[in-house]
Amino acid sequence: MSHHYHPDPGKEVRLKDYITRFEGDFDKDEAAAEEAELEERLANLQERLYAESKQSLLVVLQAMDAGGKDGTIKHVFDAVNPQGVRITSFKVPTAEELVHDFLWRIHQHTPPKGYIGIFNRSHYEDVLVVRVNDLVSKSVWKARYDHINNFERLLVDSGTRILKFFLHISKDEQKERFQDRLDRPDKRWKFSMGDLPVREKWDDYMEAYEDVLTRCNTEYAPWYIIPADRKWYRNYIVTKVIVETLEAMNPQFPPAEEGLDKVVIPD
Ligand code: ADP
Repeated sequence: MSHHYHPDPGKEVRLKDYITRFEGDFDKDEAAAEEAELEERLANLQERLYAESKQSLLVVLQAMDAGGKDGTIKHVFDAVNPQGVRITSFKVPTAEELVHDFLWRIHQHTPPKGYIGIFNRSHYEDVLVVRVNDLVSKSVWKARYDHINNFERLLVDSGTRILKFFLHISKDEQKERFQDRLDRPDKRWKFSMGDLPVREKWDDYMEAYEDVLTRCNTEYAPWYIIPADRKWYRNYIVTKVIVETLEAMNPQFPPAEEGLDKVVIPD
């Protein structure tokens, strides 16, 4: 089911062909039951990844505002040992970051061996917000797709598996979530006036995302387009893809030191 949301590499992606709201024959209760079991597997796999310390996993999350990046991190990694997970949120670049190449700040946060790294926004902002707002010239952002593919290739060749999730919500769903943020005192802090001009450029963002999902959807660093209007379904699919990937990575506990069977712990 999950591979269904990964477009074939090389295929031109049109987002209108991808649902935002799951309506299939599978409900929240069924997902919850399966998810409990998936979370247990995830916790176990993470422990093995950490103990083995030979490979790492990088999870990239991208979405429009209120698309659910924070909620996904909170729910999917609920049961995982926080010591083995490193979360990085990429904001507007600082003056120091801006005088380096766009991948400089990213590379510092890629997960070391044994770790799961989570990017809440990522190097993709440099071909999304930067492109839509003309923050650099077209020739500069156009060259970045190849730079990104090469960078991700380097990470993969160095023992990092990469999974990239676009949390795909509808414009109507975003409106509802913004309204909810305005209406609820405990959620108001999440609303920013700056979110509205971004919403106005929705179509430009969709076009920029389509290019990302077409040009940077490689065999070695796949994109998944997750129907994200329903949070329970989004969480379920993202968890499932991560668990299946870690299972394929098959991390192993390292062999015990020689002679452990003869150890006697002194009094
Ligand atoms: P979030 O919306 O992820 O919860 P913020 O509200 O702090 O967090 O938003 C981070 C902001 O940083 C976003 O508006 C995003 O577009 C911006 N940003 C991230 N990376 C870049 C970049 N490379 N260039 C310009 N803006 C960026």
